[in-house]
Amino acid sequence: MPGEKKRFVIIGGGPAGTSCATHAARFGAEVTLVEKDLIGGAAHLLDCIPSKAMIATGSAMSQMKRAVNMGLTKVDVSVDLEALRERIQTIEDRLKNSVTGLLASQQVNLIQGTGKLTGPNTVTVTTSDGKTEELEADVILLSTGSRPRIPDWAEPDGVRVLTTRHAYPPPELPERLVVIGSGVTGVEFVNMFTAFGSEVALIVSRQQVLPGKDPEVAAVLEQSFLNKGVKLVMGARAESIEVDGNEVDGNEVSVACDDGRVVKGSHVLLAIGSIPNSNGLGLDAAGIESSYGYVTVDHNCLTNVPGIYAAGDLSGRLPLSSVATMQGRKIAEHAMGLHAGPHRHIDYDKAASAIFTDPEIADVGLAEADAFAEGRKIRVTKVPFSVSAKSMINNDALGFVKIVSDPATGVVLGGSIVGRHAAELISVLALAITAGLTVTDLAESLFVHPALAEVLGEASE
Ligand SMILES: Cc1cc2nc3c(=O)[nH]c(=O)nc-3n(C[C@H](O)[C@H](O)[C@H](O)COP(=O)(O)OP(=O)(O)OC[C@H]3O[C@@H](n4cnc5c(N)ncnc54)[C@H](O)[C@@H]3O)c2cc1C
Repeated sequence: MPGEKKRFVIIGGGPAGTSCATHAARFGAEVTLVEKDLIGGAAHLLDCIPSKAMIATGSAMSQMKRAVNMGLTKVDVSVDLEALRERIQTIEDRLKNSVTGLLASQQVNLIQGTGKLTGPNTVTVTTSDGKTEELEADVILLSTGSRPRIPDWAEPDGVRVLTTRHAYPPPELPERLVVIGSGVTGVEFVNMFTAFGSEVALIVSRQQVLPGKDPEVAAVLEQSFLNKGVKLVMGARAESIEVDGNEVDGNEVSVACDDGRVVKGSHVLLAIGSIPNSNGLGLDAAGIESSYGYVTVDHNCLTNVPGIYAAGDLSGRLPLSSVATMQGRKIAEHAMGLHAGPHRHIDYDKAASAIFTDPEIADVGLAEADAFAEGRKIRVTKVPFSVSAKSMINNDALGFVKIVSDPATGVVLGGSIVGRHAAELISVLALAITAGLTVTDLAESLFVHPALAEVLGEASE
């Protein structure tokens, strides 16, 4: 009806859902957001933010230990798990209040309950006291996220056998931690617990940590792990976990691998990926197509059913908070008929991502290995941080900047950064790629001196 507001119903209040809610409300829609647990989603409360808060504490510890070479006489630090738990809670509370305040300021109607599609235009919400409510919608967004994958041979108990969600922080600091899985999450937890003083073994299913990443990048991390005493169990797949409560030598947990090796420790952490939260979401009721539980979407995040979108981890695209937030905003624009031209689609190939290890790892755009695999001509320049005055001042010269560009035009196509503040520095390359800048643009930019960003300029010459 002309003049009537478009009704959005959003299921799931993580970065995708809250971003869509605030943008759609700002564009004039009537928005209802259904969240079964806590606003901010797994990103703020269970995954991204708590893990980064712990990593920041571990990183502060590592830097303080390293600071003995910076003119200090005695540096002695240890972690206080209770204080760390409180710190994480404070950060989460502040983020939750900030998101809730933003939603309230945009008049988003927040319903605490579990949402389910009951038809192409209807969502049924069940609240914790068992009451149900039916909501009619012109636009529906499914943004229920994902959860850690648990293989059928493992039974996490939150004490000895942990998923990442038991580890913020765990009830006790693991003396000898076995981490299964060497993807982004696995290596971040290896790094974090090593910094806290745990002895860590990492089970790596292939011959390289971070499978799929640039081998030069992975090699720096592997060497850093070895230097810190991490035991790398390469080329092995875990296939069972045995917990023996009677053991007294700190080997309460044994992980058996497919090649016969057994890795023992006091605790085990599963970091072998995630699965989408699509069970019980009513996809069939609305006729929505999915694959392995991920909702199938097009370049506008639209499902096969008009008016129903999916975003965030549920959409099976890049599982990043930043991507989920951008998808939420784009969906609000598209559903409200704003900026729907092809140039406004998300280009997932241009998303920057980071791994918060020590050293940090970040990359964006075209990877050198992928360019070779495609037979594409590229120019690659690589400069180590050790050339930079700032890295000497920081007492941390590990790592490098690598820039991939088009040899004919100089346009920046991709880049990898390993080293301190890589997650911040990669933004320069992300912007260069989005804006179509050339290496000459970067080389002629007047960066601060002394600053690590100067290495970006040098790698652009
Ligand atoms: C350990 C770890 C670290 C990470 N670190 C980073 C990082 O550093 N940077 C980064 O960009 N990404 C990171 N990620 C990824 C990031 O957390 C996810 O990509 C992001 O949470 C996806 O957002 P989302 O909106 O899809 O879902 P979520 O954040 O998972 O939110 C989904 C919400 O939906 C709710 N929900 C589910 N089902 C229903 C239902 N039926 N009804 C109502 N509500 C429902 C849930 O309670 C939840 O609040 C990390 C992930 C992990 C596991």
